Amino acid sequence: MSSVIVTGAAKGIGAGIAEAFARAGWSVVAVDRDKAPLEQTAARIGGTVVTLAGDVADRATNDAAVKLAVDRFGGLDAAVGNAGVTLAKLIDDSTPQEFDRLFSINVKALMYLAQAAHKALGKTKGSLTVIASKTGLVAQRDSPLYCATKGAAIQDRVGRPVPGDAGRGLHHRCGASGRRRVHRRMSKGRLDDRVCVITGAGSGIGRASALLFAREGACVVVADVDRAGAEETVKLVHADGGKANAFSADVVDPDDARRLADETARTEGRIDVLFNNAGIAGVGTLHETSTELWDKVMAVNVRGVFLVSKFVVPHMIEKKRGSIINMSSTIAEIGLAQRASYAASKGAILALTRAMQVDYAPFGIRVNALLPGTIATPFVEKYLRESYPSREEGLKAIRKRQLTSELGKPEDVASAALFLASDESSFVMGSGLFVDGGVRGGK
Ligand code: NAP
Repeated sequence: MSSVIVTGAAKGIGAGIAEAFARAGWSVVAVDRDKAPLEQTAARIGGTVVTLAGDVADRATNDAAVKLAVDRFGGLDAAVGNAGVTLAKLIDDSTPQEFDRLFSINVKALMYLAQAAHKALGKTKGSLTVIASKTGLVAQRDSPLYCATKGAAIQDRVGRPVPGDAGRGLHHRCGASGRRRVHRRMSKGRLDDRVCVITGAGSGIGRASALLFAREGACVVVADVDRAGAEETVKLVHADGGKANAFSADVVDPDDARRLADETARTEGRIDVLFNNAGIAGVGTLHETSTELWDKVMAVNVRGVFLVSKFVVPHMIEKKRGSIINMSSTIAEIGLAQRASYAASKGAILALTRAMQVDYAPFGIRVNALLPGTIATPFVEKYLRESYPSREEGLKAIRKRQLTSELGKPEDVASAALFLASDESSFVMGSGLFVDGGVRGGK
């Protein structure tokens, strides 16, 4: 069984996190300075929860939490630094004592937790999650010091490069099947009876998402311009015991996009999830990019998202619900050589995602973007061939810019898509979720 430490677990988000882990079968060390509410929360949650009353700003509390996990559960797989306090005061009203207290709990405690957890987590596996806040990125009125602590917490996210499968070994304590077991238990039926349209699902990330969504109970419409690829995906889903139909469609063609939306809504009764995943690469600097390539990349990667969404959204509006996931890329946030048209298309998707979210929130529709780094798919194989003198040189360059030594897998992105598709992300709106092996972290 996997184990996790959650700090600030007596109430609010921390209690919710502890409960979610316990429900998924994890053993939980719940830490908070308020003993009575902590005990009540633990009793309410049920499952395997041990409590520890203490102040996370004391190193000793963090050490004791890790010791408890090791003694009681035989090890530690994850830690969530959630405990935090606010201070609604302007800087000129704040005292040095308040400053120290705020930074001790919101920032220094994270260091104590990381240091205590590091040995127990092991060198090649484990997960340390920091609950920061959007106020660390976007200023909030009247709480400057609180914003500063959360900015510090966010910037603290970049760890040392981890050899091997960083983070992936999270559930490995139970062996290879352990990961699947925990994942499945946590995610069983997360898309029960949802009708999900995935474009570009005849290959790579789209195919992995179709398989995962179907495993989670969805009926998947596997749309692709490559009919054979779509049919192969459907075959794989059926072999796995899931529900899926193939739909041959070019997202660039308005008639295909309309047919995809209307026929799905007619035959399946509704569309709950649209994953705008279809996309193509474009290699070259701006002045070397032909207008034909520019137009083609923009057509598939941007116009395709526009068209399919245009015809799907009215069906979602009718039902007053839906989740749209648009495929952007880490390249929308960082510069990479020789990718002018592709970067422009994925930047447009990020902006479009936010604009769509504002427009469709009143209709119960969530719109979010995924920003993968380099994921081992046929798409990347093509990019490696076109952009580097040799495949090996290309792989070397890619690995160098990541914090992990391996490329991402389609399943890594599929898991993130599942989160955005499911109700678990019901409060996630207009966001971009990175799945990039730490490319933005620098080394
Ligand atoms: P992939 O293996 O090439 O799969 C993409 C699928 O989309 C293919 O089956 C492709 O068909 C299909 N497609 C292309 N144009 C289409 C169109 N006009 N209409 C319908 N389907 C179309 O690529 P992937 O790596 O899974 O990429 C999926 C998405 O993730 C893309 O949007 C890509 O930009 C994005 N992404 C990928 C990475 C990565 O490292 N792999 C990183 C960031 C973002 P054909 O094979 O016939 O073209």
